[in-house]
Amino acid sequence: MGVRILSIGDELLDGSCVDTNAAWLASSLADRGLSVDSINTVPDIVERIASSLVESASQSSLVIATGGLGPTPDDLSREGLAHAIGEKLVVDDAALSWSRSRLEGRGFQFTSPQAGMARRPGSASWFPNDMGTAPPLHAKIGECDVWLLPGPPAEMKSCFEAHVLPGLPSNEPGERSWVERIRCHGLLEAEIVERLGELLDRDNPVQVGTRMSRGIFIATVHAASREQGEPVAASIEERLRPHVLGRGDVTMSSSVGGLLLEQGVTLATAESCTGGMVGACIVDTQGSSRWYHGGVVCYTNELKQSLLNVPSSLFEPGAPGAVSAEVASAMAQGARSATGADIGLSITGIAGPDGGTQQKPVGTVWISIARGEDVTSRCYRFPGDRQGIRRRALTHALQLLRLVLLGEVESASLPWESTG
Ligand code: ATP
Ligand code: MG
Repeated sequence: MGVRILSIGDELLDGSCVDTNAAWLASSLADRGLSVDSINTVPDIVERIASSLVESASQSSLVIATGGLGPTPDDLSREGLAHAIGEKLVVDDAALSWSRSRLEGRGFQFTSPQAGMARRPGSASWFPNDMGTAPPLHAKIGECDVWLLPGPPAEMKSCFEAHVLPGLPSNEPGERSWVERIRCHGLLEAEIVERLGELLDRDNPVQVGTRMSRGIFIATVHAASREQGEPVAASIEERLRPHVLGRGDVTMSSSVGGLLLEQGVTLATAESCTGGMVGACIVDTQGSSRWYHGGVVCYTNELKQSLLNVPSSLFEPGAPGAVSAEVASAMAQGARSATGADIGLSITGIAGPDGGTQQKPVGTVWISIARGEDVTSRCYRFPGDRQGIRRRALTHALQLLRLVLLGEVESASLPWESTG
């Protein structure tokens, strides 16, 4: 029997908040080999919360609900749980003193709405919340374990990991309990499907799920054991190489960072149309000061000249202009020499909606990578709106850098490449 997830909150039903909690929980449970049977969303109404908890508990042995544990009058999940099990809410003294010392320790006053968060149905237990002040609750409805976790995603994740995860069975007999994710960037879906071929057959004992999210392709391998799943995961990596970023929680940023660290080389960036997105993405990865010197956002031609020594002649009438191989290359070399990094990466392009011409339409982006005296420059014509073009420029730049580092840049290409 699968797990049931219950997302509680009016904001989830009026479109003002996207339910990322349910997605995160489903994926964390899948990593443990546990499947989710249903995800339900209910408003902040006691009776609706209660009836949904009762219904879910009658169909499953584990229900995880998120949201509605805070101090405001619309936080009614505690009341909903009490209603569902037919108990009154009681104040838990230990929860109360935990709550009080937590708030006062942060310099806040302890008020009566906050004291309300220390209430629980008589038979329920409370747990500390390391990231917030609303304690999560556990209760039994019949044979079913029911968890109420706070709504803010950081609190929900930390409570799940601290209190729910340790008690989960590591797998269900007969289920596909070994799960591995492989991420890849820079191949179109049709090409991926062709390369993976028979590995995607729906009746294979090892199942491979596929998903594309913001240009990153994710293959999820579900197998009964490591011995069974590993050869399939290795084969996927082999077939998608060199575009594969890695396994598990790898990101574009951590994959590039790992390669730079492995090769003992450092990077600097010079960005125009991406306005610092590449730098921001690189420093997402912990420890990035070991491979990233920093970057320059040089939006105007004047800054490209004064900060990066791009020759002014490149901007004169009849010259290549700001979006060209020459300027991209000079920017990458300028970033390298200005910072003393081993590698300079630059991006210059037209994100639109204005500024396109017949020769250089909106979406034209040059990316250069300078390593020593060697410069690799590529032009792409990205589809999409301003944000989409800038996002693609970011991921392409990082993937192009990976291909340069792997020595694969001449043999492997990325979509939307153009002659400029
Ligand atoms: P708080 O103490 O912050 O009130 P809470 O447990 O009462 O915590 P809610 O009031 O339900 O949680 O939600 C607080 C915020 O958490 C919401 O405004 C929203 O930003 C975020 N949130 C709640 N539920 C979800 C969800 N399912 N997915 C993503 N974000 C969520
Ligand atoms: Mg709230």
